[in-house]
Amino acid sequence: MPDVVELTKALIGAESVTPARGSVFDVLEQALLPLDFRVERFVEGEAPDGPVENLLAVRGQGGPHLAFAGHLDVVPPGEGWSSGAFAPEIRGDLLYGRGAVDMKGAIAAFVAAAAQVPARGTTSLIITGDEEGPATYGTPKLIERMAERDLTPDCCVVGEPTSANRLGDTIKIGRRGSTVIDIAVIGRQGHVAYPHLADNPVPRLVRALAEIDAIELDQGNAWFQPSNIEVIDLSVGNQATNVIPGRAAARISIRFNDQQRGPHLIARIREIVARHAPTAEVRGRVYGEAFLTEPGPLSELVSGAIRDVLGVDAELSTTGGTSDARFLSRVCPVVEFGLLNATMHKLDEAVALADLHALTQVYAEILRRV
Ligand SMILES: [Zn+2]
Repeated sequence: MPDVVELTKALIGAESVTPARGSVFDVLEQALLPLDFRVERFVEGEAPDGPVENLLAVRGQGGPHLAFAGHLDVVPPGEGWSSGAFAPEIRGDLLYGRGAVDMKGAIAAFVAAAAQVPARGTTSLIITGDEEGPATYGTPKLIERMAERDLTPDCCVVGEPTSANRLGDTIKIGRRGSTVIDIAVIGRQGHVAYPHLADNPVPRLVRALAEIDAIELDQGNAWFQPSNIEVIDLSVGNQATNVIPGRAAARISIRFNDQQRGPHLIARIREIVARHAPTAEVRGRVYGEAFLTEPGPLSELVSGAIRDVLGVDAELSTTGGTSDARFLSRVCPVVEFGLLNATMHKLDEAVALADLHALTQVYAEILRRV
């Protein structure tokens, strides 16, 4: 029977800065094989977005099929840790190490839960080595692989760290979408003393940004806060005091709810920019569309398990950044529930040992109720 703390330590000890492959997957595979999971690993992609390793583990057969999804890659540790980021260390009640809460601890908790509970139907783990990066070869490839195997799940729990102040206080039933748009206004460089011979791109860009900044996209709705546009970068790079610059650029980031669609937002920005600067270049990338699993059987199952094990009423939320749930939500209902997110991506990322044990019990209860 795998011990959740020991397995979390072993996973942290296998360094796995995104995109991850190799030893960290060896550790997980070795934990799953004795529990009767059929484990399939595959590496896909090339630089810069790959290569990425993915792992699909399946136990049992037929319905219902509950999938647990997560990632073994971590963000780079940065400088200044009190102990080694990849040398897991227990100090007091906490286990320190990169990935402790995001999200090796949750993966270990699910494995420990699966060891306790032989759930009916099919139980699977969908584990990628690229969630923190572009995710090109990660969860989308796992979903394709599952469809090829006729193993599309009926519902999915993603083990991202969703808890805010205490374990179980928040589960996520959706996420906002995200798009980043780069604007470059091309003018004609010239001498400040001869403005009629130049075309200054800066006022054009400023006027376009003022109009963009004034947009109120929507009011939000029952499950989402209002969509928001932020201008996050402005660059001209003009070091001279007597030169009208030839180029001015800006970057805007939009986090949007399920009333908006990424491509439509990009088109709207392009139209505004074109009115102020007809030759401007506008390039947008949609990192994820907004999605929502309407409150229903899955969110009730998860919040019921949390209530019974932890005595906490979970809030249903759609806040925070994007996650791989955006891909999984196209396939089946998805709920995200995991550890406290206070230290994720930070120096001295840490998980409470008690939370690892408690999360194991909640995941076990979810498996019992499927
Ligand atoms: Zn994560």
